[in-house]
Amino acid sequence: MNDANCLFCRIIRKEIPAKIAYEDENILAFHDISPQAPVHVLVIPKKHYVSLDELGEGEKNLAGELLFRIRELARSLGLAQNGYRVVNNRGPQGGQTVFHLHFHLLGGRQMTWPPG
Ligand code: 5GP
Ligand code: ZN
Repeated sequence: MNDANCLFCRIIRKEIPAKIAYEDENILAFHDISPQAPVHVLVIPKKHYVSLDELGEGEKNLAGELLFRIRELARSLGLAQNGYRVVNNRGPQGGQTVFHLHFHLLGGRQMTWPPG
């Protein structure tokens, strides 16, 4: 189910410490070690998927749960009023560096467009 050497799987197993923002049976959210905004949280499924590309028909509920949780976290972290950004980097050209599906929730400053 989980990948022995995957960094985020190791965070899920609490082998590597992280500042946890939310946890339930299927989802973990924790603060990014190198925050790119005053609030920078990573929201991940506890089951190891490399990327969005690995989600099949059977993962539609999980996909919805992840999106819903991001929205809830944005509210609880005080980002809902001024706004925030949700990012998924997929694959090398998308800028993905950790190959366990994750969404970035960024907020607390003005974002710019286009992204780098
Ligand atoms: P990606 O570049 O794959 O979209 O995002 C990976 C994110 O994981 C980066 O923002 C990076 O700062 C974060 N990250 C890498 N290693 C660790 C770690 O050990 N702990 C935490 N909390 N975040 C990490
Ligand atoms: Zn993993």
